[in-house]
Amino acid sequence: MRKIWAIIGISSVLYSCKTKQEVVTLPEITVETKKEIHSTPRTYYAAYTRKADLIHTKLDIQLNWDSCFVIGKANLKVKPYFYSINELELDAKGFEIKEIKINNTKANYVYDNYKLKINLGRTYTNTESFDVYIDYIAKPNKIKVKGSAAITSDKGFYFINADGKNPKVPKQFWTQGETESNSCWFPTIESGSERHSQEISITVDKKWVTLSNGRLVYSTNNSDGTRTDYWKQELSHTPYLTLLAGGDFSIYKDKWRNLEVNYYMEPKFAPYAKQIFGNTPEMIEFYSNKLGFTYPWDKYSQIVVREFVSGAMENTGAVTFFDGMNMTDRDLIDGNNEEIIAHELFHHWFGDLVTCESWPNLPLNESFATYGEYLWNEYKYGRYEADRAAQNDLNAYLSTAKNKRVNMIRYELDNREEMFDANSYQKGGRILHMLRKYVGDDAFFASLKKYLNTYQYKPVEIHHLRLVFEEVTGEDLNWFFNQWFLASGHPELEISYDYDDTKKQSIVTIQQTQDLAKNPLYKLPLDVDIYSNGKRERTRITLDSLKQTFSFASNTKPDLINVDAEKMIVGTKKDNHSKEEWMYMFNNAPLYLDRYESMTALDKHKTDSLVQLQYIKALNDSIYSIRISALNKIKDFNESNKKSAYQKVKELALKDEKSSVRARAAKVLADNYKSENNQAIFEKLANEQSFSVLSSMIKIYADIDSTKAYAIAKKEENADNFTILGAIAELYSKNNNKSYNQFYLNTLNKSSGFDAVFILPYYKNYIKKMDDETIKSSLPSLKEVAMSSNAGFIKSSVKMVLKEAQSASKDEALKKEIDDLINSFEKK
Ligand SMILES: [Zn+2]
Repeated sequence: MRKIWAIIGISSVLYSCKTKQEVVTLPEITVETKKEIHSTPRTYYAAYTRKADLIHTKLDIQLNWDSCFVIGKANLKVKPYFYSINELELDAKGFEIKEIKINNTKANYVYDNYKLKINLGRTYTNTESFDVYIDYIAKPNKIKVKGSAAITSDKGFYFINADGKNPKVPKQFWTQGETESNSCWFPTIESGSERHSQEISITVDKKWVTLSNGRLVYSTNNSDGTRTDYWKQELSHTPYLTLLAGGDFSIYKDKWRNLEVNYYMEPKFAPYAKQIFGNTPEMIEFYSNKLGFTYPWDKYSQIVVREFVSGAMENTGAVTFFDGMNMTDRDLIDGNNEEIIAHELFHHWFGDLVTCESWPNLPLNESFATYGEYLWNEYKYGRYEADRAAQNDLNAYLSTAKNKRVNMIRYELDNREEMFDANSYQKGGRILHMLRKYVGDDAFFASLKKYLNTYQYKPVEIHHLRLVFEEVTGEDLNWFFNQWFLASGHPELEISYDYDDTKKQSIVTIQQTQDLAKNPLYKLPLDVDIYSNGKRERTRITLDSLKQTFSFASNTKPDLINVDAEKMIVGTKKDNHSKEEWMYMFNNAPLYLDRYESMTALDKHKTDSLVQLQYIKALNDSIYSIRISALNKIKDFNESNKKSAYQKVKELALKDEKSSVRARAAKVLADNYKSENNQAIFEKLANEQSFSVLSSMIKIYADIDSTKAYAIAKKEENADNFTILGAIAELYSKNNNKSYNQFYLNTLNKSSGFDAVFILPYYKNYIKKMDDETIKSSLPSLKEVAMSSNAGFIKSSVKMVLKEAQSASKDEALKKEIDDLINSFEKK
């Protein structure tokens, strides 16, 4: 699964919903998150005890759209796991059970709305299997929605726009199993250690297409205008990966080797399917080769659905995506969401083929999928780009770690959803990278190949991974796994340097300054690069004490000693380099992260003219994020350096290949070169197609020539891109003209899922200036947004707007109406 907050960045760096953007920042949003409860004793979260072994699931599914019911007939093949059994316990949430048979004989059962206990009529030993038939109606909408930070709802089966009354949202259905929600629509054993093969027949309107795991074996047209599709997957996977989806989708047919690779898009977005998903075949080829394990499943389909509860989900061969993937060529100018495509595909080895046996072991799925993003970036776009994204991951983890330090593998949990956090994803991805750097590429990928071959179609826990790495490398790796996977926190290092001229020695002192009550004392193998006389020499050291000194023979004082030269440490470093050493590092060390660390450290010398000259050089950097960082430094430049940078900034605004750089450069021109005549540049940028650039131009013109800002806003008011709609919402919020209210209402009405979050903070500022009549007219749309979204943070954003409107209003009845409205969606 790829969490939505990792994509749209509710917690840290903000991404736009349509495309990645690093320059968008929103005003404050209050996000109501669940409080971590640590005062009550936590319980050991054991893996599911396997009494029965589910072998095969056959489902016949019909849908009742009036009541949003799933009418199902399930045929399960089951056998005792080891010990004999006379009762079978299944997960089935909120069902109406019509009939149950065991081997064609009517069976007795007990059902409490969650667990179904079936009396088997006699005792079965593990050498015999039995058939279970269940005739049932599942009522997913009647199940109480719990929700969490990672997944915003857990009712398993979703009827979208069921009554067809919303003209903006197509009617469709889809399922979401992880963590334990597929039992909301079919009876099963919901555990990562369980695996089943499956057959599903689904009947839909014949205009529609359907998607499930495995192959579409046949379709039958029925006399009543419906069609029945029959899907079959013979390879086994865990029940949370079972998917069923359908609706009015166009299918773009692509291919990898001889396998079908299909992209299911709404017809409107189908022309862009190839641009959005087109690298998929190359990714499958790359991962198959890199892992030495050929993609094992029947096909690879990707479907973009509406109102999805997460970012994306790795259902075997049938991946679901949130509607942020509905992009047009204009959206794609600003970038795509390719990392999420890579993430879900990599799960097909780590998660789908080899599956974590219990939620505490979730990093075996998610850390790998996150690292899959790194591997793809590294292969396709180079190490610079991979490291750039990996640094964002590290920053996201470090920001989480300020309030939450927990073990990666957490056996004690209040709630399994806690596992879906920056530890399991970002920190875990970086730990795997560190493991790769420690054992070396050959050993790392040989270990992964062995792990996949040994545990294919099986559940795993963290020790399985360690044992494989130990077998391949011949080294006891408990120390690595204990401190990184079975402990919490990270090292905090302070690094100091000295040179002994008489002994001709360079001295590096490294201290571990983390609080040892909350973090381990780490054993850290580190590569150290010593730069002297234009040469670079690498040594590996191992830090394993609180404070340690390392000496290196050196005839002269080195220009730079680069500790952690591979930039692999998951932690923080206070590196006491001099200004000159940081500048040397920027100019001579090879990695993007050398330059990133150097630029970050040089910030404390930002008024130094030499450092500013260094930043001017950085405006030419090959990595766009370094160019953006350098642009951000110009505000602190002295007049003379500002002047020297001007030509380059203009060039970046006009010609940089990245729209985010052009957008940033334009803003820097407006903010820092007010006395220059930049009109011609702005005019040209204001005619660009890039939403990112146009958003920047709205902000720029708002300050210098508001007529032009409003002209762009007017022209783009109906765009489907929430980056530009956010910029327009911000512009209009500065105004108290009642006529703009319609823009907010239209935009909120067309938002589905998460994108309202880009509008609501600005609407809050606008609505407080409105009269009672305007406030009243906005209530139905706000209610609709709050009610239709499964996301808790959308509801809290709507509440924030309503509270603002309420305090602005003078009408007591209206105030009461607002209270009632808030109560109505908070209760839902
Ligand atoms: Zn994932």
